[in-house]
Amino acid sequence: RDWERRVSRSARKQSSSAITVLVTGAAGFVGTHVSVALKRRGDGVLGLDNFNHYYDPNLKRARQKLLERSGVFVVEGDINDSLLLKKLFEVVAFTHVMHLAAQAGVRFAMQNPGSYVHSNIAGFVNLLELCKSVDPQPAIVWASSSSVYGLNSKVPFSEKDRTDQPASLYAATKKAGEEIAHTYNHIYGLSITGLRFFTVYGPWGRPDMAYYFFAKDILKGKTITVFEAPNHGTVARDFTYIDDIVKGCLSALDTAKKSTGSGGKKKRPAQFRIFNLGNTSPVPVGHLVSILEKLLKVKAKRKVLPMPRNGDVKYTHANISLAYRDLGYKPSTNLETGLKKFVRWYLGYHSKSKKKSSW
Ligand code: NAD
Repeated sequence: RDWERRVSRSARKQSSSAITVLVTGAAGFVGTHVSVALKRRGDGVLGLDNFNHYYDPNLKRARQKLLERSGVFVVEGDINDSLLLKKLFEVVAFTHVMHLAAQAGVRFAMQNPGSYVHSNIAGFVNLLELCKSVDPQPAIVWASSSSVYGLNSKVPFSEKDRTDQPASLYAATKKAGEEIAHTYNHIYGLSITGLRFFTVYGPWGRPDMAYYFFAKDILKGKTITVFEAPNHGTVARDFTYIDDIVKGCLSALDTAKKSTGSGGKKKRPAQFRIFNLGNTSPVPVGHLVSILEKLLKVKAKRKVLPMPRNGDVKYTHANISLAYRDLGYKPSTNLETGLKKFVRWYLGYHSKSKKKSSW
């Protein structure tokens, strides 16, 4: 029960903060950056993460150390644990929940479908059940994904486009999450904002993502596989730098409005919003490799293969006009600049002598 003492202590310290945020998935890539940014600007933050082994748990523990150095405490637990969630809400008066815990990755779903249902559907419902039952209800901002646009969307993707052909189970669970969130909004009045992130990259990133394992394999002299679309078509991603995503997340928290209605006033329904958070600048994956070669000063051994139909889409490209209008979201980091920061971090983190790299 050590965490209860630590949480109470940090709740007391945070009682004067403008907003107090529960960040789920706090030891994850995006969760770490968002938590540190919230803390830096003076908000109350408490993290929750189950430290699962989907990718190297040592990286999650290293992020946890960084979080602790920044004053963010992370409770180890699962979003499916109702008693734990209840306890956390009893101890801390959260004004907001930044929900980033999820089973990510598209290919892992083929061998492990249950973990997507566990975290992205059952866990999300469990969290929403808790948020609906507390008074006052927290405003929720959560991570959906560009993957909801699926196989048949035209580019650039805008929020009103069809999302009826998910290309993977991961995408299907994110799409289901949006429907579930909308249901909790209109039935129980929860204020909910969904953010469709587009291929986020940067320091402390995820080892299962292409930019990360390409860097690793290029440095090891291993052959990397670059996929091309049918008829030698380009596979491209709207790579979005982590600092831009963090700004979008903070703005979504700051602009989240709750329902009104107490004191005899007419009740205004709580918000339900969905935004694309991308970079509006898709880059062919082959070009990503060329930038990495330049930054790492190593020529990659490339193999080009046709893209398998196993969950990936050919092209992603965000239309961000809605996020610009309502969140003031304006990404400002191009791929070369962002990758330079990633490579600097990567080399520091992975070299034994510089284990405690700064970001
Ligand atoms: P991540 O895997 O690094 O972070 C997710 C964290 O959630 C992990 O630390 C994991 O241990 C934790 N977690 C998973 N299931 C949990 C559970 N049941 N209970 C408690 N903790 C749990 O992923 P990320 O890249 O930081 O992604 C954050 C969010 O953004 C996810 O919802 C992801 O689906 C979404 N997203 C990410 C990207 C991207 O490019 N990184 C793109 C689109 C959407």
